[in-house]
Amino acid sequence: MIEANNPALSSWVEVPEHSDFPIQNLPFGIFKTESLSPRVGVRIGNHVVDLKTLFVLGYLENLPFELADFDTNFLNSLMKKGKQGTRALRNRVSKLLSSTQPDLQKNEHHVEQVLISVDQVTMCMPVQIGDYTDFYSSKEHATNVGMMFRDPANALLPNWLWIPVGYHGRASSVILSGESIYRPKGQIKPDPAADPIYAPCRNLDFELETAFITYDGKPLGESISTTEAEDFIFGMVLFNDWSARDIQTWEYVPLGPFLAKNFASSISAWIVTLDALEPFKTATPQQDPKVLSYLEFEGKKSYDIHLEVAIKPKESPENIVSRSNFKYMYWNMAQQLAHHTVNGCNIRCGDLMGSGTISGPTDDSYGSMLELAWKGTKPIPMNDGTERKFIQDYDTVIMRGHASTGTIRIGFGEVVTEVLPAK
Ligand code: CA
Repeated sequence: MIEANNPALSSWVEVPEHSDFPIQNLPFGIFKTESLSPRVGVRIGNHVVDLKTLFVLGYLENLPFELADFDTNFLNSLMKKGKQGTRALRNRVSKLLSSTQPDLQKNEHHVEQVLISVDQVTMCMPVQIGDYTDFYSSKEHATNVGMMFRDPANALLPNWLWIPVGYHGRASSVILSGESIYRPKGQIKPDPAADPIYAPCRNLDFELETAFITYDGKPLGESISTTEAEDFIFGMVLFNDWSARDIQTWEYVPLGPFLAKNFASSISAWIVTLDALEPFKTATPQQDPKVLSYLEFEGKKSYDIHLEVAIKPKESPENIVSRSNFKYMYWNMAQQLAHHTVNGCNIRCGDLMGSGTISGPTDDSYGSMLELAWKGTKPIPMNDGTERKFIQDYDTVIMRGHASTGTIRIGFGEVVTEVLPAK
């Protein structure tokens, strides 16, 4: 067992009941305050541990890190140290925060400097994302979309059960939770029989996803196997992969997603390490037909992570519109990474890989409004008396996720994005 995952651990830092951030989590992020420049932080309960100050005070000695790895705008240099480095760092922070370890706890003057209330911090984009790839790995989602837009009897395309289908997205428009987006504009075709028009998107949608962030991979020309894959994954975030459905319908032939997808994708601020999620591994759904050899894997490679989506209209309380689970994914992350590199494509530290929309088997577990409201035919009622087919201006979309054993809860916090009218 990874030391920091020990369920018996408790912290001298107060952790509220049902917090996403017990001592067994310790996710990494970048934060700043009114007086502190951006730097690496670790979240526990409602506090952030300032790793730069912790390093300066000498608590992170004999680890493969230097000041610049913590005094930085992004986690990339820290992630350059690979899984062994970040695991050792998380174990050290765990030890320092543990109830049984007096070293930091007993030094009130140091505690005052390194422990900052979340009320006082502003979160920053945690990673300088190099490349962003998005998969399409939920069988339920792919089936639903196939039923709506193609042939209900043959909803999955012939390649889907053989290939973890994906495409290259755009990193420049990946934004942090809390940042608003403007409704995108583009070419849409409201009347299928008429010419397209240039207008604000009318069918703006979220996609409930998670994403994983990579360490440095192998040189160009080499591949990462399913057995090795987890050594190349630092951690995961919640991921709202915004979609303009009406722009997509018109533009996607023949090369696939473009302007319907690249105007914004929102991530949560804290990167939950794959190490912290280790206790929540679960079996991947049965894969039939048998996958090709490079996609075969051993053991549990999926993760049991509860996910939910809420829509909050401007003037009324939020409405939970979907509850799903990461474990429903047909293709697991190890297979996605093995597939991504099977042709010799190299991945780099700070690449972001989206899961694809995570839809569950029931109609209240779908991961997009397209499916929840079934192409606009089944509007979703809001508790303020209005209804939604897609996302309206001034709606805020909130996604949350956590894994739980009943006693230990490892959460992601939220990814929150408000939609503003088109510019
Ligand atoms: Ca997507």
